[in-house]
Amino acid sequence: MKIIIHGGFFSESDQSHEVKTAKQESLKSIVKKAFEFLQNNSAFDTVAFAVSLLEDDELYNAGIGSQIQSDGVIRMSAAIMDGGTQKMSGVINIQDVKNPVFVAKELMKEDDRVLGGSGAKKYASEHGFENFSTEIPKRREEYELKLKNGGKGTVGCVVLDKQGKLAVATSTGGKGFEIPGRISDSATVAGNYANSFCAVSCTGVGEDIVSNATATKIVTRVTDGMSIEKAFDKTFEELKSIDGFAGAIAIDKNGNIFHQDSYPTMVFASFDGNILETFN
Ligand code: ASP
Repeated sequence: MKIIIHGGFFSESDQSHEVKTAKQESLKSIVKKAFEFLQNNSAFDTVAFAVSLLEDDELYNAGIGSQIQSDGVIRMSAAIMDGGTQKMSGVINIQDVKNPVFVAKELMKEDDRVLGGSGAKKYASEHGFENFSTEIPKRREEYELKLKNGGKGTVGCVVLDKQGKLAVATSTGGKGFEIPGRISDSATVAGNYANSFCAVSCTGVGEDIVSNATATKIVTRVTDGMSIEKAFDKTFEELKSIDGFAGAIAIDKNGNIFHQDSYPTMVFASFDGNILETFN
């Protein structure tokens, strides 16, 4: 059983040492809680649980910590994919729910599995998700000062469970200051993809991640027999050729864990009963 989570990017230039330490501590604590949960739950349930904990932490740009868009509104996107069934479900630009990842998970039961905007919110309300204002004062201050939140902060989780099943979930508040209606990579197969061979969650500039089809390419390459390291290398080479800004985390069916970023530093932690690695 293995878990890797990410909390987007950290930039030394616009975030303090305290924020860095807080993110390291938070990632370690969440990855441990998720591993405990995994003891009695599937990879699919665990990725949703882990991402909900990340959404509930103001440190990250997802759920409660989501950034504000150019018109002053918070819109969130999240997706979940079960590697075993190869089904993905998600919400795009949903407003006023606490945990977009749980709405995404609920949608797995439907034939129509990715909903956007008001349709996603209506579905959430009809399925017992309470109205919840995700705006925190800090984000409003940043917005009013027209400052971008330091670094990108999307969250994601990849899990391999004891049955050997893989799953992935990703959740974001977007890039910050985007044109209303902009669609992030996080609820697309470029940002969040899994099958029975490999599962990948991305963070970074959604447009770059989509242009490079990042998560899908890595998973396809591993499926076709490439090692996870080589699949990352090739995919990040291609990302470099478009000067793409992205990071990704992954696990393959044999339990190999990998992560890479095109610009430092993606924040992440991996766990298999012990902390395997965290960002520095
Ligand atoms: N990928 C997200 C987006 O473009 C942003 C991020 O990862 O922080 O919406």
